[in-house]
Amino acid sequence: MDRFEVSKILKYANENLIPVTGWGSGSSLEGNPIPVKAGIVLDFTQMNKILCVREEDFQTDVEPGVIYQDLNEKLKYKGLFFPPDPGAQATLGGMIANNASGTKTIHYGSTKDYVLRLSVVLANGEIIETGTRASKTSSGYDLIHLFVGSEGTLGIVVEATLRLVGLPAEFSAAIVTFLSVEAAGKAVFEIIRSGLDPAALELLAPDCIELINQEQNLGLSVSPTLFMEYHGPTKNQLTEVMKIVQEICKEEGCEEFMTGLGRAERDRLFKARHELAEMIIRKHPGCSMMVIDVAVPITSYPEMIAFARKESEKTGIPRYIFSHAGDGNLHLVFMGKKGEESEWEIIDHANQRIVSNALAMGGTATGEHGVGIGKRKFMEAEHGGSLKWMKSIKSLFDPNGILNPGKIFP
Ligand SMILES: Cc1cc2nc3c(=O)[nH]c(=O)nc-3n(C[C@H](O)[C@H](O)[C@H](O)COP(=O)(O)OP(=O)(O)OC[C@H]3O[C@@H](n4cnc5c(N)ncnc54)[C@H](O)[C@@H]3O)c2cc1C
Repeated sequence: MDRFEVSKILKYANENLIPVTGWGSGSSLEGNPIPVKAGIVLDFTQMNKILCVREEDFQTDVEPGVIYQDLNEKLKYKGLFFPPDPGAQATLGGMIANNASGTKTIHYGSTKDYVLRLSVVLANGEIIETGTRASKTSSGYDLIHLFVGSEGTLGIVVEATLRLVGLPAEFSAAIVTFLSVEAAGKAVFEIIRSGLDPAALELLAPDCIELINQEQNLGLSVSPTLFMEYHGPTKNQLTEVMKIVQEICKEEGCEEFMTGLGRAERDRLFKARHELAEMIIRKHPGCSMMVIDVAVPITSYPEMIAFARKESEKTGIPRYIFSHAGDGNLHLVFMGKKGEESEWEIIDHANQRIVSNALAMGGTATGEHGVGIGKRKFMEAEHGGSLKWMKSIKSLFDPNGILNPGKIFP
């Protein structure tokens, strides 16, 4: 498939009112690429060329079906990388459409921070170019950031120019355990408040650590745990940073502070972290997963995590808390039995309470997974009067409503 074929398909679909839904790797967690109104599914997995890498400009031009790990594999020989890392084998088109982020977002930002230029096919088949290869611009409306995070409801991305960054010269990683999830959450807040700028700061509740130990034999202490990583120019600088981090964690009552992890050990930890969702699914055959993905300002994070823990415990249903803690982003996964209506009512109630609490704190119902189908019900509460302007934008770009219908809007 090339952009001209995509354009022909969209023109035909628009004239004949046929829904069109983009498909990357299908790894979304909110049903984002599910063609709920049937129609045409545009699978981009074979439109996957890395068109060029301009290393001196720290840029690459890519087709939407490139898997981001494949891009990074190629870039590492040039000392570069594309930082957003959702973990699953995601395509760049899917990441752009969902504004994906991941474990390194705290330091490096999310996908929206890396998109400089897009080629987009609109609902009527018109192909437009938007953005620039300059590293900054203040020219006109920012259409790039309208398409980023629009989940394929405003246009179909057929090419992107992405910003890249240099691989860090040195890293330092640590595993820190605490007596309670709340104490770990407080340490996260203090680390961020101190301006120590972690490259990753992940929190895992004991159930998650137990699962990782069972599946990957890592022998970690079964306690609320922070995985953290710092990037910098020299080992000495990072040693100094780690000393301050250790003092902060001690003040918050940490039990163990294990630093000086080597590259292989660090990679094993983050691989396990990335595979956690799959481990949870394997542990609960016959169950479906519901993922809460709230994010709040960092000052509210300790309170948010305490609230979520208490609310989820009340349900008595298997649940796991893990979190891109440094971003104030909390994942709470419930595993409910398929077809057990009463169990799903309890989960829905807990979900409602936790999301409402996050919104009351000035946060969001979805820090990184997008709205898809699952988070539509919170759009009104989160966006109030601006929701009608979002709908107007949708009507302007896609007057016949053919692009990924049934998503985002309640
Ligand atoms: C185990 C696991 C862990 C995860 N962890 C994270 C995480 O840490 N952070 C995070 O952000 N996400 C995470 N995710 C969610 C998911 O990986 C991301 O949202 C990812 O960006 C989806 O990419 P994809 O290629 O699978 O896209 P898909 O799921 O196929 O599609 C995503 C959306 O993009 C649209 N789309 C696809 N291609 C195009 C295109 N060319 N033009 C326009 N629209 C298009 C689709 O219609 C859909 O709305 C995780 C998922 C799993 C399974």
